[in-house]
Amino acid sequence: MFISVITLFLVYAVVFFLFKEYEFSQLKNFEDDFDWQMLCFFIIVLIFLVVLLYGYAKRMDKRITNEQAEKELKVRRQLTQNISHELKTPVASILGYMDTIIENPDIPEEMRNQFISRSRFQAQRLSSLLQDLSLLNRLDYASDIFKKETVNLSKIISEVDLATAFALQGKNMTFNNLLPKDKDILIFGDPSLLYSIFHNLIDNAIKYAGEGTSISLSAQETGVFWNFTLSDNGAGVSEEHLPRIFERFYRVDKGRSRIMGGSGLGLAIVKHAIQYHQGDISIHRNANGGLRFDFSLIKDS
Ligand code: ADP
Repeated sequence: MFISVITLFLVYAVVFFLFKEYEFSQLKNFEDDFDWQMLCFFIIVLIFLVVLLYGYAKRMDKRITNEQAEKELKVRRQLTQNISHELKTPVASILGYMDTIIENPDIPEEMRNQFISRSRFQAQRLSSLLQDLSLLNRLDYASDIFKKETVNLSKIISEVDLATAFALQGKNMTFNNLLPKDKDILIFGDPSLLYSIFHNLIDNAIKYAGEGTSISLSAQETGVFWNFTLSDNGAGVSEEHLPRIFERFYRVDKGRSRIMGGSGLGLAIVKHAIQYHQGDISIHRNANGGLRFDFSLIKDS
């Protein structure tokens, strides 16, 4: 920008010196006698300005592209670091337990069984992390492999209900299904992604809301969308975490999430899966504590 202004100033100075002797009173009426010298001068200045502006716009374009590429590279590097960190922990634990068992054949049976079951838990964590990573990767780069069809959401919800019933009971929690009973909720989408959205949100509420709390799910029809609200009256999270909660690997309490078997990718998957269905999601803190997720999904037309 600075260089462009200086160049413009210099050109102006040169033109001023070249034309300072020019007698402006010589300008004649256009119809009488056309002043070619003046016209040439304006055309040259115009061409120069266009070239200058074009060069400046190109330079700005390049700078923005470079800045964007740098930002993307930084995000990708951070993501790779996070992935390798997340993989390292369970792999190191499994190796540690296995080495202890192999190197100590006389280890008491009870301890050996404990090490084996801990290894199994870590292997499970690894497996769900890889599954989540693969799902996010497909959403990012190969979303055309998902196939949209008419999906009855009641069927998806009852599948999620069945899959989470045991954990829900274990925490003495209740799930209030407030979806309209008089009407089918039909979504134009991918059944496995729709399952992931509801399963992740309900599973999170069961993991983090706390003993004896309740979860409720309601829906309203607005234009071409179904708007859902999934809410719990649990512990919630403090305000400062809300803007980053959908980021990959962002956790409020890292230790707690890992103990619960979380990959830190659940809400990122939820957000991307909702966007795949042309919807959006926002998170809010309930007045009574707990979290509320408002999200939309495109209706089947
Ligand atoms: P994770 O694998 O850790 O569960 P998520 O992306 O699913 O990762 O969630 C990110 C974080 O958001 C969790 O670690 C948890 O701290 C917080 N969180 C998500 N849902 C709830 C909820 N219903 N109540 C309280 N905290 C929640």
